[in-house]
Amino acid sequence: MSVELSNRGEGPASNGELHDDVSEGNLDTKRLLTPRRRQTGGYEEIAMDIGRPSPDGTALLLESMSHEIMRLRVATGGLAIFAVLATFVAIGLAITRWDASAPPPVGRSPCFDNSIYQDYGPIAKQIISVATSGPSFGDEIHKRLEKLCFTFGPRFSGTDALNSAIDWVAEEMTLDGLEKVHKEAVANISNWKRNEEWVYMLQPRLLELPMLGLGGSVAGNVQGQLIAVADWDELHLRADEVAGKIVLFNVPFTTYSETVQYRYRGAIEAGRLGAIGALLRSVSSFSMGNPHTGATRYEEGTQPIPFAAIAVEAADLIQGLLGTGQAVEVHLQMTAQTEAPAQAFNVMGQVTGGMTPDEVVVLGGHIDSWDVGLGAMDDGAGLLVCWHAVRLIHTLGLRPRRTIRVVGWANEEQGRVNGVLGADVYAAKHRDERHVLAIESDSGAFNPLGFTYLGPDSALRTMQALSGTLLGALNATQVVNGTGTGADVLPMYETQGTPALELLTDATRYFWYHHSVADTPDKMDPDELARCAATLAVIAYTVADLEQPLYIPR
Ligand SMILES: [Zn+2]
Repeated sequence: MSVELSNRGEGPASNGELHDDVSEGNLDTKRLLTPRRRQTGGYEEIAMDIGRPSPDGTALLLESMSHEIMRLRVATGGLAIFAVLATFVAIGLAITRWDASAPPPVGRSPCFDNSIYQDYGPIAKQIISVATSGPSFGDEIHKRLEKLCFTFGPRFSGTDALNSAIDWVAEEMTLDGLEKVHKEAVANISNWKRNEEWVYMLQPRLLELPMLGLGGSVAGNVQGQLIAVADWDELHLRADEVAGKIVLFNVPFTTYSETVQYRYRGAIEAGRLGAIGALLRSVSSFSMGNPHTGATRYEEGTQPIPFAAIAVEAADLIQGLLGTGQAVEVHLQMTAQTEAPAQAFNVMGQVTGGMTPDEVVVLGGHIDSWDVGLGAMDDGAGLLVCWHAVRLIHTLGLRPRRTIRVVGWANEEQGRVNGVLGADVYAAKHRDERHVLAIESDSGAFNPLGFTYLGPDSALRTMQALSGTLLGALNATQVVNGTGTGADVLPMYETQGTPALELLTDATRYFWYHHSVADTPDKMDPDELARCAATLAVIAYTVADLEQPLYIPR
């Protein structure tokens, strides 16, 4: 006997009043709720239908509780059915029992390594299957992301909300069964307060412009003619026009690392030439009128001037007006303050290594966020996919040779620019442990493609072989060398030479939301979160378990 379940949509979508309908006196509810048998072409169908009347009350439409009729088809027959069953059993055995001698998947990476496949193929397959075969794992991550974002709001350095969120992460990691969950204090973190701020265009017409002051900016109340420049060259060509004016850096987005230089140094360079204030075209690849903040800085010896980002659309408007020969005058008001340095914490939990626990694979994201939006993409989701990678390893009962630790690092957004980077404190405090690999997810936990890599060539080849062999099912086999790495794994590379990976994803949408009010949980997709966690879990587990360490820290 073979059993087949089939779904067939039938009848109108539920209007949510099903139970009212079946209780109406004009329906034969007993007949409707009784299983019926029907012979169709050698199969006997057993159907439990729940009926409701058609809108005009003359015909009966069928509808199950889930808008569909589940039909249990009981095949009748003799020997042929036994043969079918035997085939299913054979296929089932082939699927459920890993055959290490079977040929590897078709379309494999050129970095495919057969011995890695033999040693870690089954576990990688199990991790990927558990993480991605149903919606629940991704949904769990997304629900936790919503909880983190909605409960605490933005997790800005220097706020109680950040430290409450850190406590919550520690509690939840403990509930998950992670080991050695604890916080480590990070002193001297940024404590900049935005306060009230606005910018108006006064001439050629009155218009309030969407803006966000840049983190670390001084306060100011300045009004003046505006001069727009497209790059440093134009600023210096027109240096004698700058004094007493407000400079707009209207720099088109190319890459983040290139364009963000104007956010870091705009106030320094404009202030040096005597500008009274500065505006920045938001560092963003696509805009829906949302300005994007971020850290800025000053240098000793130059006059600090107030510096704010305006929406891309506002920058285009100003450029258009200037292009037609009209003078543009603006009034910028910022009341920001830098208060006494605050304290936050790095928060962490782990699966302790079974053989060499002081050798560590560390992975994580930053727990702090900007003060606008909810820090869902940057970097709540990044921390959550790392955390759930470790949780997955724990849940599967895996105990690798080395320790796998997830860390939520403090004060990434303004660290090293204005304050202390939590990851620097982590690297110093854990100097006596040997970090064989450091992985960060802070480029958006979107569809994973692989990793970017910074480190020695020998470990690069191993990483390429591991990814090429074990991540084919996720299409996440890339290991891209030479593009730099994330701020939170850089300290381990700098202090121990530890190879540093950044999760590489399809970040098309990253700079749409980055550092803006639009960075909210709805932008993150549960399936993509699950795939990111699976990618991280496979690499973290295998590197933690390799017989020879990926890298011997200096
Ligand atoms: Zn970030």
